[in-house]
Amino acid sequence: MTQVAQVVVDVATRQTDQPYDYAIPDDLVSVVTPGMRVVVPFGRRRLQGFVVGIQDHAAFDGKLKPIQQVMDLEPALDHELLALSKWVANTTFAFWITTMQTMLPAAMRAKYARLLVRTDQFPADDAWGRQLFGRSQTIPYPEDLTAAQTKQLRQWADQDAVRVEYKVKNQARAKTRKGVHAPTAAVLAQVTVPNRAKAQQKLLTGLQQAPFAGTLTYAQAAQHYDVSEATIHTAEEAGWLQPATLTIRRNPLDAQTERDAPKSLTPDQTAATDQFVTAVTNKQAHTFLLEGVTGSGKTEVYLQTIQAALDQGRTALMLVPEIALTPQMVHRVYARFGTAVAVLHSGLSDGEKYDEWRRIQHQQAKIVVGARSAVFAPLTNIGVIIIDEEHESSYKQDDSPRYHARNVALHRAKTFHCPVILGSATPSLESRARAEKGVYTLVRLPERINERPLPPVHIIDMRQAGGARVTPDFSPELLSALENTLAKHEQSVLMLNRRGYSAQAMCRNCGWIAKCPNCDISLTVHLAAHKLVCHYCGHEAPIPTRCPVCHSDKIRFFGTGTEKIEDQLQKLLPTARILRMDADSTRKKGGHARILKAFGSGQADILLGTQMIAKGLDFPTVTLVGVINADTALGMPDFRASERTFQLLTQVAGRAGRGDKPGAVIIQTYNPDHYAIQLASHQDYESFFRREMVVRHQGKYPPYYYTVLLTISAPSESVTAQEAYRIAGDLKPLLSKTAIVLGPTPRSITRVNNRYYYQILVKFKKEPALGRGLHNLLTNSQSLAKNHVQVAIDFEPQQIM
Ligand code: ADP
Ligand code: ZN
Ligand code: ZN
Repeated sequence: MTQVAQVVVDVATRQTDQPYDYAIPDDLVSVVTPGMRVVVPFGRRRLQGFVVGIQDHAAFDGKLKPIQQVMDLEPALDHELLALSKWVANTTFAFWITTMQTMLPAAMRAKYARLLVRTDQFPADDAWGRQLFGRSQTIPYPEDLTAAQTKQLRQWADQDAVRVEYKVKNQARAKTRKGVHAPTAAVLAQVTVPNRAKAQQKLLTGLQQAPFAGTLTYAQAAQHYDVSEATIHTAEEAGWLQPATLTIRRNPLDAQTERDAPKSLTPDQTAATDQFVTAVTNKQAHTFLLEGVTGSGKTEVYLQTIQAALDQGRTALMLVPEIALTPQMVHRVYARFGTAVAVLHSGLSDGEKYDEWRRIQHQQAKIVVGARSAVFAPLTNIGVIIIDEEHESSYKQDDSPRYHARNVALHRAKTFHCPVILGSATPSLESRARAEKGVYTLVRLPERINERPLPPVHIIDMRQAGGARVTPDFSPELLSALENTLAKHEQSVLMLNRRGYSAQAMCRNCGWIAKCPNCDISLTVHLAAHKLVCHYCGHEAPIPTRCPVCHSDKIRFFGTGTEKIEDQLQKLLPTARILRMDADSTRKKGGHARILKAFGSGQADILLGTQMIAKGLDFPTVTLVGVINADTALGMPDFRASERTFQLLTQVAGRAGRGDKPGAVIIQTYNPDHYAIQLASHQDYESFFRREMVVRHQGKYPPYYYTVLLTISAPSESVTAQEAYRIAGDLKPLLSKTAIVLGPTPRSITRVNNRYYYQILVKFKKEPALGRGLHNLLTNSQSLAKNHVQVAIDFEPQQIM
């Protein structure tokens, strides 16, 4: 009986988005399992693919091509993740191959060299093994293995005698360190050390009295026996310590963190934790919405719930918006659980991510903390999933697969029968509405810890401040508050809201504005780097000294950037030490953490930054928070504009007065009466929710309606428009009468990177046929492929512009 593998090949097109049958060669039958990557012939090519299923075929028709090679020694995706990848592909209109690739760390993708490494367990007496490795520890992964050899490797992998590693081509792996093996008592007994070699004597005595097990690095050994590293080296040269190569875990957070103990909970925290732990214990796949004002102690509730899951022998998954922005949260989890924690985030190198991923897959890590993509962490036996700041739009991926981590988490929770906790001071309208309907259970923490009052918020009307303004960007109130704070030697946080707002270069003589040659958008001025940058396609140009049109030298910058504010502020407050935190100043690895650390240790008086400073900071020394411009997000043509503004202002206001000293917040705005700004100043989420729900109801927007955004693009504008209208026309007959189709319309920035973009927005309540209909529409279209048209489908888009 022949076994047949269903393989999804690594070609992301609609036409190839399906499993193909391949014969499994007889001698690979016990090796190939679902979730493994293989190499198969495809047309005239050899392609990588994932095995997604295996079937017995009694009647083999003889035409199937065989699998050529097995790429993994253990399945890259386990059963649960494989099923999840299919579900994500279906619900986000992505190709199955794309969702499977997304689940793997980047290091396992194509541009990496595959290596085979032998471990201490490797059988020294195996003839083929000796031939394969020679004297090397690590070899390039052999490409042309026979089935029997593949099987042998697989067996060694099961015994931890070999493992596969990935290396960026042409990049050194800086992750091993020299060390020594523990000597046996028998070896030590034979060692003789001359009397004058005091250090050697000391080491020998130390080893005899307190031997170590396994291996130590030079540095560890030196510290352990209180000798120098040179002494260890001498002992090694003398032959009584054997050299070893140690693999160092590449995790930047491995640095010493002080361990902390669980706090005794407040009554509100206890009530919340009890409900969550009960759901963990009873294996209920139930979703809770933990609505707690900033500083109400949500984190402690998370940590104690995680502890309960661990106590029951289960694992925990915790998502945070962007770890680079919330290093404090990671440190708190790390401080509680130590090396049981694996961290996955964009700040790690690919090698570091792969290390963490493997620790999770091998069940060495029980708790995963990570940003969006960590929702695919290869954990098994999950006991609880936590999503902190659940309203954050960064949980939704902009590119294919356009998944929302919250939806993926809810799906995994069903599989593992575990609760999900969604935490926020300002829940998304969608989640809060579900709690209202009883789909989620609402749990509230209405008080700040220690009854610290929420800081008073002053709203400054910048229309009134007109004449009195010190500079265009500073009202007298904000400036004097900054001065007072400085005089008291306390710290301030100052936020510049830059969504859709940046510094541009303009000629004051003729009105010329520096624009991107590839996109319909003006270039942004980056003063420090002396260049103009397109934030859409990355195009760069020098800042011109003369206008290219009228040749005048009156080039001016307008719009407000953090750099410009920093300049103004430094002139207004010459003695203030200002730290700037924005996309520029944090680009380097660890940039955020470095700036936050400097601010936390009092090296600056004012932290000036973009919205990234609003998130998760907990500095007890901050007593003043200023918002320079609250309005920019309100002006966006997006139905979530008010929600975003409310969330941002509430978050940033929550940064003040977290310590013993009372804090204050000053918000400058041109819309002082707008409900989002008014209600944020009182941190009144519930009123905002009710008010905004009315607006959404009237506009037929989420959470009352679902939305799907189709973005059609092509190199020619007329083709784009034509295809967009054709698709809209084909789509309408598939929908019921309650659905609403808006567009096609050109996107607000129509041309990006020399492609034109049109959009169609579909709003609907229930359209069971929509998914299949869209799929057929796009799969069967000859005209799309012929005209180089791309169609992106985004279910529940976070940005509509
Ligand atoms: P949130 O995440 O809700 O904004 P945090 O978890 O940051 O709030 O808590 C605010 C502060 O209160 C933190 O410094 C935290 O260590 C402290 N805290 C939380 N729970 C307790 C408790 N039960 N007893 C004492 N301090 C607590
Ligand atoms: Zn000009
Ligand atoms: Zn551009």
